[in-house]
Amino acid sequence: MRLAALPLVATLFAIPAHARPPRLAVVVAVDSMGSDVFQRMLPRFRGGFRTLAEQGAYFPDARYEHAETVTSAGHATLSTGTSPWRHGITSNKLYDRASGKRVTVMWDPAVPLLDAPAGKDDTTPARIEAETLADRLVTATQGRGKAVAVSGKSRAALALAGRLGEAWWFHEGTGRFVTSAWYRKETPAWVQAFNDAAPADRGLGKPWTLSAPPAEYAGLDDRPYESDGWGLGRTFPHPVSRLAEGNAYTALACTPASSELVTDFAVRALSEAKLGKDDVPDLLLVSYSGVDRAYHLYGPYSWEMQDHLLRLDALLAGLFAAAEKAAGKGNVVVALTADHGGAAIPEEWAEAGLPGVRVSPATYERGLSQALEATFGAPGLVLGLEELDLFLDRRVISARGLDAVAVRRAAAAWLNAQPDVQLAVAEDDLPTAPDTQGLFPALRKTHFPGRSGDVLVVLKPWRVLDDQASGASHGSPWLYDAQVPLLLWGPGITPGIHPETVHPTDVAPTLSTLLEVGAPASAEGHPLSQALRLRR
Ligand SMILES: [Zn+2]
Repeated sequence: MRLAALPLVATLFAIPAHARPPRLAVVVAVDSMGSDVFQRMLPRFRGGFRTLAEQGAYFPDARYEHAETVTSAGHATLSTGTSPWRHGITSNKLYDRASGKRVTVMWDPAVPLLDAPAGKDDTTPARIEAETLADRLVTATQGRGKAVAVSGKSRAALALAGRLGEAWWFHEGTGRFVTSAWYRKETPAWVQAFNDAAPADRGLGKPWTLSAPPAEYAGLDDRPYESDGWGLGRTFPHPVSRLAEGNAYTALACTPASSELVTDFAVRALSEAKLGKDDVPDLLLVSYSGVDRAYHLYGPYSWEMQDHLLRLDALLAGLFAAAEKAAGKGNVVVALTADHGGAAIPEEWAEAGLPGVRVSPATYERGLSQALEATFGAPGLVLGLEELDLFLDRRVISARGLDAVAVRRAAAAWLNAQPDVQLAVAEDDLPTAPDTQGLFPALRKTHFPGRSGDVLVVLKPWRVLDDQASGASHGSPWLYDAQVPLLLWGPGITPGIHPETVHPTDVAPTLSTLLEVGAPASAEGHPLSQALRLRR
């Protein structure tokens, strides 16, 4: 007995004090910041982006593996470590099969917003079919670890927070930060006070001006294919009018004032929710939606995109400093990426000599509807084309006694005959059809049975699906939409540049490794071990 016990005692004394996980992890998603945009801007950054790129691990080639590269899908992928085929957040909007109505993917009219009128925007994480990093942290720490998500968009905040975190977002109808009844019964006093100070109103009436001398901006400010939305105009200075067409807060949401508001709220949440204050790790998840709004109006190469990112660079330095102040130096780990990239404005590509084409979903819907009616004798078979999901009305198919598979295949055949379509496939053929173009893995990962469209449609490169007459859009599997930068910084991260391809699904498993909470249940990504230096 004595002989056997000795080695055990010796082993116990040989174990060094265990390095604690960081007290706070900060996840930053910059909405619509593709690798191309980030790499072009990097030499001009002096703030938070620069800190992460110089002192952290920088992966310029992180690729989303799902085909439909949109905001809700991207954020859910970041938080769960898997793709829509498991997490189920396929698109921002979809057609409800029972009603035939187009709805936002995370909307539930039975779950109201706090302090804001009922609307049609997302309210609940209940349709996220996979565990998020926030869920994992809260479960693993038995409720002692906290997770707070902040965004300019509900879909981003909900997807990052999951079920057990807390989601806060800027409500464009009221100019206040709100949550839904899923997370809270009433608004906490500090949020009430933050909102009552009307921080959004300070931005109204104040024009968006250039933050650097004009000579420092690449390209031209005034380009005819940029959008002139919400009374903002196409050129600097952009008036942010109290009387903007539609809603003044929507105009504000397209400017860097949006990123300032989100940062201010996140910094306040650090202290009010007491994040990073003890050895149980906490999570702050911040999504900058205003960058995406500027992208859609003006395109990725615009002065507006450049200026927004320059201003965000400075705001991030403040956010990271506040996080270190809250948790202590050396106790904060940061992961920064984007939910997707973004195509150029198609007319801008065309001007440069590339086959940039603006493809109207409404035109496809009309043409396909007529073609299917001619074949099957039934009007109203097409509900709509939502990004790359083509929805057919299964109620009509069923009422007419049609062969649903035949209708789906006929729809795919008609779409495949359109000159701007690369590939259309009926969902029935997704598992088995020969993958002649290498697009099937991405299409399979984007498809969630019962929620995705009946037919999936990928346009050719440089074709952009958009019913607007100007501005930019994203949502395809091509790399201008799917490739994003990924940066890690903080204790346990080795500085360096990693040119190899990685995936945004790796973010959650990497952070769960650092936080020692186990990976989210459905995660498919891997810890980015080439950037980790873990102490025992
Ligand atoms: Zn987005």
